[in-house]
Amino acid sequence: CGQCVAHCPTGALTFRNDLQNVYKAMEEGKYIIGMMAPAVRASIQEELGMEEDVVVAGRIVNFLKSIGFKKVFDVAFAADLVAYEEAHEFKERLEKGEKLPQFTSCCPGWVKFAEHNYPEYLNNLSTVKSPQQALGSIIKKFYAKEIGVNPEDIYLVSIMPCTAKKFEAEREELAGEVDAVITTRELSQLIRSSGFNLKNVPPVPFDRPYGLSSQSGLSFGKTGGVFGSVLKVLESEIEFDDIKTEEIEKGIRLTKATTKDGKVISGIVVFGLGNTRKVIDSIKNGKLKVDIVEVMACDYGCIGGGGQPYPNDTRVRTKRAEILNEVVGIDVLISPNENYHMLSLYEKYLEKPLSHISHEVLHTTYRNRKRINDEDIEILPLPVEEDK
Ligand code: SF4
Repeated sequence: CGQCVAHCPTGALTFRNDLQNVYKAMEEGKYIIGMMAPAVRASIQEELGMEEDVVVAGRIVNFLKSIGFKKVFDVAFAADLVAYEEAHEFKERLEKGEKLPQFTSCCPGWVKFAEHNYPEYLNNLSTVKSPQQALGSIIKKFYAKEIGVNPEDIYLVSIMPCTAKKFEAEREELAGEVDAVITTRELSQLIRSSGFNLKNVPPVPFDRPYGLSSQSGLSFGKTGGVFGSVLKVLESEIEFDDIKTEEIEKGIRLTKATTKDGKVISGIVVFGLGNTRKVIDSIKNGKLKVDIVEVMACDYGCIGGGGQPYPNDTRVRTKRAEILNEVVGIDVLISPNENYHMLSLYEKYLEKPLSHISHEVLHTTYRNRKRINDEDIEILPLPVEEDK
């Protein structure tokens, strides 16, 4: 709503259309690569007057190729990669007992909110990039060489449910990895203006190697997806006796995973920045003891993102969550650990999670953006030169 646009502290509600830049890149003969986030495939049908359609992602891949995209990859692949790296980062922090609770960092709305409001927790944020930026980095650094194209000639278009992702792509720490971010609404505009009826476009698979994903990776599109994926990776290394989840209140869920030797790892999944404040304040005053926190700025996670079709209310978001569940359910791979193209990326380039090269390519930094209050500024008298 207009009020949200005016007051949004995260920049997530900045409306900007980037289709012109994509058209320009096409005219210039750039090597256009697309990549699509999980939540887009749960909502695009609303804009196009289609019934829900579990293979809509494949239709979009075919459409994009028909208008000149050279490759189309799945951001869910990068979600597997991010979960894998982030789970190892969490395990290391648990072992060392430092920088806990670990906060997820793939929501740029939340990251900017933390930079403004909770700089004291910036060291607790996972340093792993978001799936959008991780895949951008991989494509420009490794894939460009594989296909013999100068990274400067690649124009990488990210299709997102999120307006804050436009800001993320322009962060100084991440600039140059992704060239344009278009939202679900902009994608539907592109489809309509191209004269295609998406219903009649046969689905084709995403390109390899970054087109394969697990159920976990696809789940990044809704609340709980990142935490669930990290837990799935941990389950392959730590044996849990029992995992229990309870809803503390709407938008806040607590999970306790008990290991064979009785150790309890607890995680909070929260959506909405009001809820996030409550959670952080409880952590600060010691009422809540937790090891890992997943934060998504939008209600129900990315399916409720600022770039999604209107209306974007609870009823619609619930429906999108159901559709995404169906899409997730038909994926044959369950855990990021089963994504063999993701694992071979480590074999070929990244060596192992948290290696020097993984840090260089997949990790990032944050900055303190806290506003200084007038009353916190001390005005000192000008120095007076003493008479000699
Ligand atoms: Fe963007 Fe998803 Fe975060 Fe919303 S929850 S700001 S859509 S990344």
